[in-house]
Amino acid sequence: MYLKRLELQGFKSFADRTVFEFSPGVSAIVGPNGSGKSNVVDAVRWVLGEQSAKTLRGGKMEDVIFSGSHGRKPVGMAKVTLVLDNSDGGLPLDYQEVAVSRTLYRSGESRYEINRQETRLRDVHELFMDTGLGKDGFSIIGQGKIDDILSLQADERRGLIEEAAGISKYKYRKREAERRLQSTEGDIDRLEDIFYELD
Ligand code: ATP
Repeated sequence: MYLKRLELQGFKSFADRTVFEFSPGVSAIVGPNGSGKSNVVDAVRWVLGEQSAKTLRGGKMEDVIFSGSHGRKPVGMAKVTLVLDNSDGGLPLDYQEVAVSRTLYRSGESRYEINRQETRLRDVHELFMDTGLGKDGFSIIGQGKIDDILSLQADERRGLIEEAAGISKYKYRKREAERRLQSTEGDIDRLEDIFYELD
């Protein structure tokens, strides 16, 4: 699995539709200070479901939408599409290519799509869980991240190792199953109360 293409439109400094094509191996993005290199990485984080505006170096989520520049009006929506080559079946979907998109309008309305099918943020998280590519995965090492990792608490460091080892998916499913079990036990308690009253 590798990142094949990244399409940005209205995202941060990328007012016009901009397409990055990547090949297997190392790619480098170079440019003068402030030209938008980090915005490209922010776009990858964002499309993978990042919910923190601060992590994306903004104050509120709307800040990811192009806010205008000299002679250029602000735009009304940001859209990012990330296309992965899935010919090795690294993602559990029966497609050679997997495209994930996120769109945000100034009204606050937002949408996620996987291969052009509207989907939930949760499905995007589950798709990338344990692949290392999720928004909390270790494949994006931002500026200062190494220092952060070195100063992590023991349990946080363990979380990082669990994601790398591919077991966080199972821990997540266990938590979900426990939550459902708890809610079912609550239902059973209520039913028993009703039976008791009817007796
Ligand atoms: P450096 O090399 O200094 O780290 P960089 O190439 O990584 O810089 P970025 O931080 O990606 O640059 O881009 C910063 C630029 O993006 C700034 O000029 C900023 O005005 C612009 N920018 C950020 N958000 C928006 C937005 N919503 N609308 C328009 N421009 C934006």
